Amino acid sequence: MARVSASLPLAIVVLGASALDTARRIQSRFPDSRVHGLASRVNADIAYEDFGAHLRELYASGAPIVALCSAGIVIRALASCLADKGSEPPVLAVAQDGSAVVPLLGGMSGVNVLAREIGAALQVAPAITTSGELRFGQCLLAPPEGYALSDIEQGKRFVSDLLAGATTRIEGHAPWLDDAALPRAGDARLAVRITPLATHDEHSLVIHPRCVLAWIEDISRDDDIAERVRAALRERGLAPLALAALTAPARHMTSKSLHDAARALHVPLRFCDAAPFDVIDAKEGIALHVSDAPIEAQSIGRARGTLTVIGLGPGSAELMTPAARNALNDAQDVLGYETYVRMAGPFRDEQRVHMTDNREELQRARHAFELASAGRRVVVVSSGDPGVFAMAAAVLEALDEGHAAHPEWNAVKLAIVPGVSASLATAARAGAPLGHDFCVLSLSDNLKPWSVIEKRIAHAGEADLAMAFYNPLSKARPWQFDRAIEIVRQYRGAQTPVVLGRDIGRPAEALRVVTLGELKSELVDMRTMVIVGSSTTRVVGEWVYTPRWYE
Ligand code: SAH
Repeated sequence: MARVSASLPLAIVVLGASALDTARRIQSRFPDSRVHGLASRVNADIAYEDFGAHLRELYASGAPIVALCSAGIVIRALASCLADKGSEPPVLAVAQDGSAVVPLLGGMSGVNVLAREIGAALQVAPAITTSGELRFGQCLLAPPEGYALSDIEQGKRFVSDLLAGATTRIEGHAPWLDDAALPRAGDARLAVRITPLATHDEHSLVIHPRCVLAWIEDISRDDDIAERVRAALRERGLAPLALAALTAPARHMTSKSLHDAARALHVPLRFCDAAPFDVIDAKEGIALHVSDAPIEAQSIGRARGTLTVIGLGPGSAELMTPAARNALNDAQDVLGYETYVRMAGPFRDEQRVHMTDNREELQRARHAFELASAGRRVVVVSSGDPGVFAMAAAVLEALDEGHAAHPEWNAVKLAIVPGVSASLATAARAGAPLGHDFCVLSLSDNLKPWSVIEKRIAHAGEADLAMAFYNPLSKARPWQFDRAIEIVRQYRGAQTPVVLGRDIGRPAEALRVVTLGELKSELVDMRTMVIVGSSTTRVVGEWVYTPRWYE
């Protein structure tokens, strides 16, 4: 996939099971791709509900799309997105039986390269319709990674001239054009020019190698760093597109103006302990360095590491938020309790997975900070919501006790991504038992004294709150649940509805509604969520709800 510019994994979208075979054949060629299937018809890696909406969402996210259906369906689904000529991911239609591969969109982002690869996987010739590409066997306007086309309009004119019979020279080093069937002539008027210099003339197709590094020594000025970099490039006659990365001293890792500048210049930001090249003449706090060949930004210094604590929701993919999904897709390291890490997968080969025992939370959190402060993109997974009896608090505890000894942890970009907590998922299946004031309690006395739990249950009973009990029971805590119910019964009638949700959102999901009178510890285990109604909680048919009003 070397020349497909989108860095997101390929989305192979199928409507029904009949396309699955072809989808898997394509997938085997692109190990990090996922098969997306219509939830009601097919069991795929990722389920979607609405084809059009899903395709538009993928398109907007910039993911390359291979849709196993007619070209017409794809075109109609994406029609409303096309007017806006922003960056365009590759989009292809592939016949369900694998007999045709049709690149539709994304000429500049390598759709034809992708079409050829898929064609090779399915052993059919792709339906390439781009004339320049057909003639030259190369899309001149989509140079490989590490190079950037200077001006697309100019490029189109250039290709038209070639198609009309003009010849061209190549100035500079363009190894990927070695095998292209270009009409070359040493004395041609037209030239493909590979240069970091900002040049513009009507006879040239200018392609900039990303071979310039900027070292930002001085961020103390209260100004626009991007503008200063542009000025430095201008002064040396270099094109902004030739910039490979901004680099800066590691002590400035949290500087917002540096990150803003990198974003404005569309380049990665890397941090080093010392300048990554010999600084000869820094001006205005900025030094530039031009290499002979494109520079891989990833090979220089390190990025600002990120640590994202996500909630997977109760279990099923459809109850996971897109923000959590994106964090997982982006992750280089994934840490968590084994069951949850498995739930978050599958992962790509290059993603490192660190599974630990459920009880080693603080240690896991410290490990996450270590990885992130080395520049990695780290995700810590919890089930449900990470802030509800889960990893978010553990991560902050680790930071609280560790940041003095490990100042580098402070530079990590930390984010918490919420998820659907088990109480909310269970409540929704049952109706709306938490429709009025409620409280959430963990019945585990691992980290708090049992006396505190008893007191809180009594107060919640007294306050007539509906109660959601997490961690109701475990082998190590055999009697506690019965004692908890005993306390609740001092405040609530025997007819009070109780919702028991087990494995909600997972294949073994089971929901029961009983009365407080019937509730006993045999009905629950560690995988159960217990919701005890308030005095107003009622049952209507199969539904349980707590009205919004109060008498
Ligand atoms: N962070 C999680 C809770 C972790 S505590 C969340 O927000 O959901 C673990 C407890 O949550 C379990 O003992 C159980 O009571 C409850 N739980 C977690 N997932 C569940 C599920 N899918 N169905 C029912 N209860 C669940």
